[in-house]
Amino acid sequence: MKPVSIAIDGPSGAGKSTLARRLAKNLGYVYVDTGAMYRTIAYYTIQKNALTAEAVIALLPTLTVSLGYGTDGVQHVYANGEDVSDFIRTPEVSMGASRVSAIPEVRAFLLDTQRNLAKQTNVVMDGRDIGTVVLPDAQVKIYLTASAEKRAMRRFLELQEKQPDSAPTFEEVLADVIQRDKQDMSREIAPLKQAEDAVLAETSDLTLEESEALLLRICQEKLAQ
Ligand code: C5P
Repeated sequence: MKPVSIAIDGPSGAGKSTLARRLAKNLGYVYVDTGAMYRTIAYYTIQKNALTAEAVIALLPTLTVSLGYGTDGVQHVYANGEDVSDFIRTPEVSMGASRVSAIPEVRAFLLDTQRNLAKQTNVVMDGRDIGTVVLPDAQVKIYLTASAEKRAMRRFLELQEKQPDSAPTFEEVLADVIQRDKQDMSREIAPLKQAEDAVLAETSDLTLEESEALLLRICQEKLAQ
C-alpha cells in the first residue's frame, strides 16, 4: 500500500514543528522537518564563508544532508555525517536558511531526499512548499498559520527561556518574522502559499493543545474519506 503523507506548510513561528512532531507521534508516522535541511545548508555554507548564491551552489557537491532519529524519536540532522542539530536554530542560521532556500539549485538538491523519505514510509512533513511542490499528492494538506504578532510573541518567549541574557527584544523578533515571511512568500521558486486543496488552520487564538486537537481532527477526517 502507498504510504500516507501529511503535508504541513505555513510561515515561520506558526508552531509547525511542535505540532507536526506531536501529530506524527500520535499517528505513529515519521516526522520530517524540511526546514532543518535548509538550515543545515545555511549552517554549512556560513561555516565555509560561502555567502553568495554562486559560492553556495559550488559547495553543494561537497555536502550530504541526512536525517536520523534518536531513541526518543527526536529528529537529528547531519551535514556529512556530523550532527548539526544543536547549531541550526540561531537567528543567523534562520535568516541564512531563508536566503539559501531561494536558490533553485538548493531546492533541487533537497527535493529528491524529501520525496524519497515519503516514498518509504508514512510521514508528517513540514515546510513551506510540501503541499504545493514536494508532495502534491499528499493525502492530507494543512496550511498552518497565525498572525505575525502572535508568532513573534511565541518565538520571543521561547528565546527568552532559552537564552535569558542574550534574547532579542520583541520588536527585533517581530521584524525578523515579517522579513522572513516576505522573503518566503515573494521568492520566485516554490514561494510559501496555501495549496488549493489544503485545509487552513488558523491558530492565533488557540492554545497548543487546541491546535494539536484541530490538526488531529483534520487528519482523521481526511483519512477517513
Ligand atoms: O521552518 P524553518 O523556520 O526551520 O525553516 C527555515 C527556512 O527554510 C524558512 O524560512 C524557509 O525559507 C526555508 N524553507 C523552505 N522550504 C521548506 C522548509 C523551509 O524554503 N520546505
